[in-house]
Amino acid sequence: MSIEIPPGLPPGIQYSSGDEGPTATCFRCGICCTEYQVPVDQTEVNRIADSLGLSLALFSDKYIDPHWYRPGSFLLRHCDGACIFLERGAGRSAYCLIHSVRPAACRDWTPSLYRRECRAGLTKYWQLTVDSSGQLQGSEQALRLFQTFIKSLV
Ligand code: SF4
Ligand code: SF4
Repeated sequence: MSIEIPPGLPPGIQYSSGDEGPTATCFRCGICCTEYQVPVDQTEVNRIADSLGLSLALFSDKYIDPHWYRPGSFLLRHCDGACIFLERGAGRSAYCLIHSVRPAACRDWTPSLYRRECRAGLTKYWQLTVDSSGQLQGSEQALRLFQTFIKSLV
């Protein structure tokens, strides 16, 4: 069984053109947050530290990777194989603890069924794949569960 996207899953999945092909609604698998360390500049460090009510020194000690530094540029630390701000519960979705003040690199990241990371999340958490024509492939039950979840996000 397959579901064609677009337009098979309105209103949950939204599309626009982009470098990575059509973008999709993020289904919060967190794979991208495990694969990359996010660069932040001083302004972003200040903003996130302020939102957490931490001094810059405390924030840096806890959240900045001490092994990488360029003037004015830093990397968020990873912890247990993922960004230190990624919170994963028992379910299939994760969330960002600093979502409202997340760095530009995270804001600019576009979810897409053409992205390797998003496809990995589909397979790992939903037992779904995407075929060459952009259709989700999987069992009827897996597709139904995913569809229900996507609709719950909007
Ligand atoms: S800051 Fe948030 S969105 Fe960005 S990598 Fe970390 S957990 Fe993911
Ligand atoms: S890999 Fe894709 S679907 Fe998963 S959290 Fe990142 S952007 Fe969202």
